[in-house]
Amino acid sequence: MKQASVLVAAALLLACSGAPNAAAQAQRKKADSSAAEERVPMEKVVKSDADWRKQLSPEEYEVTRKKGTERPFTGRYWNTTQKGIYLCVGCGAELFSSDTKFDAGCGWPSFWDTLGKKHVRVRVDDSHGMVRSEIVCDRCDAHLGHVFEDGPLPTGLRYCLNSVSLKFVPAK
Ligand SMILES: [Zn+2]
Repeated sequence: MKQASVLVAAALLLACSGAPNAAAQAQRKKADSSAAEERVPMEKVVKSDADWRKQLSPEEYEVTRKKGTERPFTGRYWNTTQKGIYLCVGCGAELFSSDTKFDAGCGWPSFWDTLGKKHVRVRVDDSHGMVRSEIVCDRCDAHLGHVFEDGPLPTGLRYCLNSVSLKFVPAK
């Protein structure tokens, strides 16, 4: 069942990023080749619930381990415009770059692409009477937010994040 969900999510992603224009195809090729270079899977970070509670703040724990959602316009990064990299607050995996961050007007940090290292995984979330694509950290399974198909070009995607799932490291 879990595997089926992942397949559906992959199909959704393909469907929305499959616009047959040259730029998208070039981008796609680039993404494929970087994926090939990084074929060695990252070591998983697996911790007990008690350990996550100890490591994370109550709000970080609620969002990343219990799929909570922070209130819009309240998070620490929704309007950050500084250059840098956004890491997973749970395990430090590099997830997003300020280069693909944009103001979606929704009050959560939003990105139109992930960093090239494929540390973000998509899975189907059918909670709250909706079918959405949940995004999680591939290394520690932290809930990050959701991805929607109404983002800007070149991907047309909007990765909508909770600030508390992220740790920002400013560029030097
Ligand atoms: Zn993580």
